[in-house]
Amino acid sequence: MRIDRITMYRVCNPIKHPYTTSFGTQKAFNSLVVKMESEGFTGWGESAPWGCPAFSPYWDKGCFLLGKEFIVPKILHKEIGTPGELQKILEPIRGNEFAKGAFDVAFWDLWSRQQGITLKKAIGGTKEKAEIGYCFGVLKTFDELIAGIDRVTKMGYPRVKLKFCPTWECEMLDAVRSVYPRLTIHIDCNSAYTLQDLDMLKKLDKYDLAMIEQPLMHNDLIDHATLQKKIGTPICLDESICSLQDARQAIEIGACKFINIKYARVGGITPSLDIHALCGEKGIGCWMGGMGESSLGTTVVANLATLPYVNYPSDISPADKFYVENLGKPVLLTDQPGTYTLREKPGLDVEADKAVLDKYKQEEFSA
Ligand SMILES: [Mg+2]
Repeated sequence: MRIDRITMYRVCNPIKHPYTTSFGTQKAFNSLVVKMESEGFTGWGESAPWGCPAFSPYWDKGCFLLGKEFIVPKILHKEIGTPGELQKILEPIRGNEFAKGAFDVAFWDLWSRQQGITLKKAIGGTKEKAEIGYCFGVLKTFDELIAGIDRVTKMGYPRVKLKFCPTWECEMLDAVRSVYPRLTIHIDCNSAYTLQDLDMLKKLDKYDLAMIEQPLMHNDLIDHATLQKKIGTPICLDESICSLQDARQAIEIGACKFINIKYARVGGITPSLDIHALCGEKGIGCWMGGMGESSLGTTVVANLATLPYVNYPSDISPADKFYVENLGKPVLLTDQPGTYTLREKPGLDVEADKAVLDKYKQEEFSA
């Protein structure tokens, strides 16, 4: 398949309500959107590294420039047969997984459209539906959080994830557990702690959490392995896993019992499949996460969530409720809260809405 044309967009996509985590408060999510064309077919990819290097060392402007100066010249007008071949071509570019991820997804979309198969079939998805949980950021009061949990559990969401940081900590869990003693809950610390917080982290065992997501440094494996030996609650790594090698090493030293696989953080669909397969082989739990993508990206997450070794409800932001306007159309909707049924046409079967893209794009490059 010869890549005839590539267009990149840097987008700042405003959300309806501010979202607060241990990183601070966001009012928009920044994405790199890639349109890849070949022999009459078009593929779309999105990666949302955000507008600042907080979750990872990457940000939208850096990804856009990297794509323009290093990725596009490597693949434009080249014959690339499979998604695996694309990864080989991108291998000499170190790191920069978020930028590579947008191109990888656009290629998978293009390739599966050309094959005439759905993305789910192309990646080996086996589950009929993607099971999803609900995530709460830091809110103003515990009452507001409990009212929110009440609403989503009654709607049918199978589990709840709570952002957790020094200003929203054990008192918050006491309040939630006093009302919901048995609900499946896990917390996400987004690297807010160190081993100096061991006493507090040990106390978390009493809350019967499904897992503690990324308690320690974003690029750490060793301290997580130390912590996992001292607490009973499973650790789930998110920020620390940027590659198959990270996953292999984390599993080998016992740094986690779950991995939250985010396709953009690991460089695309191909590396996500590799990490998923490794988790299956080693008996480590896994589920899929998102970075606040539009429905272009959430549809990718939903497809990956149908893989056979996924054993916990994934994080898929309901893009229709999250954004002021959605970049992708049609919007993938929950058929009932807690599950997505995937679309049935070839490829990702979601395209960028040109009017919305034009409205929120900050930069565009075409070659
Ligand atoms: Mg996380």
